[in-house]
Amino acid sequence: MDVHRMRHSAAHVMAEAIKGLYPQAQFAFGPQTDNGFYYDVDIPGGAIKEEDLPKIEKAMQKIAKAKLCFDKKDISREDALELFKDQKFKIKALEGLLKDEKTVTVYRQGSFTDLCRGPHVEHTGQIGAFKLDKIAGAYWLGNSENEPLQRIYGLCFATKEELKEYRQMLVEARKRDHRVLGKKLELFSFHDEGPGFPFWHPKGLVLFNLLKDFVRGENRKKGAKEIQTPEVLSVDLWHRSGHYDNFKDGMYFTEVENREYAIKPMNCPGSILIYKEKLHSFRDLPLRLMEMGQVHRFELSGVLHGLFRARAFTQDDGHIYCTTEQMEKEIVSFIESVFRLYNIFGFTEIDVYIATKPKKAIGSDKVWEIATSSLKNALEKQKIQYKIKEGEGAFYGPKIEFNVKDCIKRNWQLGTIQVDFSMPERFDLEYIESDGDRHRPVMLHRAILGSLERFLGIYIEHIGGAFPPWIAPLQVTIIPVTDSQNDYSKALRERLEQDGLRVEVDSSSERLSKKIRNAQIAKIPYMLIIGEKEANAKNLSVRLRSGENINEIPAEEFIEKVNDIIKSRSSSLWPAI
Ligand SMILES: [Zn+2]
Ligand SMILES: [Zn+2]
Repeated sequence: MDVHRMRHSAAHVMAEAIKGLYPQAQFAFGPQTDNGFYYDVDIPGGAIKEEDLPKIEKAMQKIAKAKLCFDKKDISREDALELFKDQKFKIKALEGLLKDEKTVTVYRQGSFTDLCRGPHVEHTGQIGAFKLDKIAGAYWLGNSENEPLQRIYGLCFATKEELKEYRQMLVEARKRDHRVLGKKLELFSFHDEGPGFPFWHPKGLVLFNLLKDFVRGENRKKGAKEIQTPEVLSVDLWHRSGHYDNFKDGMYFTEVENREYAIKPMNCPGSILIYKEKLHSFRDLPLRLMEMGQVHRFELSGVLHGLFRARAFTQDDGHIYCTTEQMEKEIVSFIESVFRLYNIFGFTEIDVYIATKPKKAIGSDKVWEIATSSLKNALEKQKIQYKIKEGEGAFYGPKIEFNVKDCIKRNWQLGTIQVDFSMPERFDLEYIESDGDRHRPVMLHRAILGSLERFLGIYIEHIGGAFPPWIAPLQVTIIPVTDSQNDYSKALRERLEQDGLRVEVDSSSERLSKKIRNAQIAKIPYMLIIGEKEANAKNLSVRLRSGENINEIPAEEFIEKVNDIIKSRSSSLWPAI
């Protein structure tokens, strides 16, 4: 049984249950989601509360047990307007989205009829295992100027076991929620004054910059040169690139001196202007330009979700200008980087997809064939298994997508490499061949992590906020037992800082046990407890974040061991004894 059908059918069942309990209920849309379904509803003069969910769920169980058939019927739009005359959102849909349709499809199960294209399961007994999850706010058509609605979410899986497993994962995910950890670890915050725009705090920015530098270094090793292009660029450029036509609703605009500008939603056109600055010879290719480019994209406030979905983010973007023959080698080199980096962050389960030519595409079949086979060859050469996403490429070229599984088995799409024949055409890019002829280069768009902000969100949840020493914003906290050890503690901090370690002294007036507790909550890898004995003997007693203790170790040895761990970007805190 197709789980998408089950989920969507469960939304109908929930609507029937709600209608039974709240006869005045008005229904908007009720689609499936990737873990279940929701329905947007409005209860005139009232609202559904969290404590009402079990009651609705019980009514749903009853409907499921009754195994009511989903009956399909095509009716005229006029008949539908009559049938749904008490359902104002269905009327709006019939007069809006469906206004040009002569006939529409309705589905009935039991006493409930809904305007819907389907498909559904055969009867209500086939909707699988479900559980109502939560209530959120929504608006008709997602527009905050329209009527407010309540979005009732349900989880739905084919079997009870899968539902149970998923709910356990949710509990685990809530404990790791990066928005909560981000606040607790003082990394970033969000404010109503700039919805969807992350504010990086001192520790968070250390983390963010470490990540940036790390990716920069990797790109540099692969021969890329870094550029930086402006945030605000003329609308003419976005017309030429095609973004204005295809992406306008996701862009921010501004006007100065009677000229319209857009804040960049992508970095490609800026990179292209740099390419075009000079006439390139075949000897310049492949030309690899990378940019840690901050982009802004408008997203409806309802879909914003911490760092996972923000309105501004930084891409580890790169554009490679090359010949068709050079493509494969460049792709191979990129794939190596992807696997190495993901492994360093502890993502070892990596799924690879090739998205192929969609129905609406530009460029000849031959060109698509060459591009797609160079992606395939690059993967096959490295013996990397992949699946095909038929027809899911961009309209201008095929791509490879890299997905990782986190420690609670969630899938995240991170990197991509995309072959593009369109932009070089639109911008009339050229290079001079050895025979003196002008040719068009191919453009490869590539990002290893995608959005650095989103990646950090995923990473924070993957490791539960316990950063390995190399990327931990604060690596060492020195805890003097009494004020008499403050001077020595400060001197020790300076000594460690000389070796590049990120260190803090906790000279607060808290009790020792409280200081240790605070350092544990902050998930700092190393605590150095400095009592009278340590201050006199100049030896350290180290407490690891994991709870283990290393006693009486000379400071120099500690520094050396920690620096080795940092250099190797190991995720362990101490060498095996
Ligand atoms: Zn339906
Ligand atoms: Zn690009």
